[in-house]
Amino acid sequence: MRPTGKLHLGNLVGALQNWVKLQDDYESFHFVADWHMLTTDYADTADLRANTWEMVADWLAGGLDPEKATFFIQSLLPEHAELHLLFSMVTPLGWLERVPTYKEQLDNIKDRDLHTYGFLGYPVLQAADILMYKAQYVPVGEDQVAHVELTREIARRFNSFYGRVFPEPRVLLTPTPKLPGTDGRKMSKSYDNAIFLGDAPDVVSSKLATMITDPARKRRTDPGNPDVCPVFDLHKVFSSSETIDRVNRECRTAEIGCLDCKKLLAQHLNESLAPIQERRKPYEQNPQRVWDILEAGTAKARQVAQATMAEVRAAVKLK
Ligand code: ADP
Repeated sequence: MRPTGKLHLGNLVGALQNWVKLQDDYESFHFVADWHMLTTDYADTADLRANTWEMVADWLAGGLDPEKATFFIQSLLPEHAELHLLFSMVTPLGWLERVPTYKEQLDNIKDRDLHTYGFLGYPVLQAADILMYKAQYVPVGEDQVAHVELTREIARRFNSFYGRVFPEPRVLLTPTPKLPGTDGRKMSKSYDNAIFLGDAPDVVSSKLATMITDPARKRRTDPGNPDVCPVFDLHKVFSSSETIDRVNRECRTAEIGCLDCKKLLAQHLNESLAPIQERRKPYEQNPQRVWDILEAGTAKARQVAQATMAEVRAAVKLK
């Protein structure tokens, strides 16, 4: 995950909750992708360290357990850069230019110049991040499937030149609901529409109060349609089945208004966030703990990375 700072509800249901579930069944690695951050945000790195702390504190608060999963900082392991370099030798340019998110982001992001070598090579760095740990599975959503497919192709091509060093990892496709933000678009930090895991109950309530609802429901007496209401999307994730059934029924008949519906959601949402905020407190009281956990995880990851790179250098006949 790129270190963009505090996590929001979309990050929680789209990624973190799934990682927490997987940590019991798989040996797993998670990292602060600070070099990946530089591929788009190279011009402004002032908040990198603060954002790393906030994000990892939220991982811990969300239940990711350093006793079960390994978490580390990418830039502390130069082995990733070395493997990226070797992969860049065997990766045809056409493969990178064809990655769907490449063109999409070039078209969409206009406030920065992304016509850089590093940005084009982003998926090669990702391949190095994955293959370093000889991963069998990569838990991602639909939007990342093309990247994992490219990782498989790079592994295959490397193996064809130098002998079988890498497995071909598969996606562990996780059905991730796209959570809407307060403006109805996908919840995202860059849209300023996010509810954060650390938001206090009154902040949650006031953000929900401004959230858009079924646009056809103009008056309290108009019946609404939960199927097109982003508030109902949040109910489906955070509320009890009792509340979901009630809102679904009473919105359509105008028995319940948007204000009441949002109040119910605020209650359930705050109940979900309370234990997360409670788990975060010890780290806020002792911020060094987060750095210590990252340092221990990085040391563990380094052992794997060093062993892989020894094998890779030998296979390439570099030594
Ligand atoms: P942001 O758009 O706020 O910068 P990121 O792109 O850093 O979020 O996403 C980090 C992780 O959270 C990714 O796995 C992404 O798929 C997931 N994610 C982000 N926003 C949402 C959302 N609104 N709904 C579901 N998952 C999301």
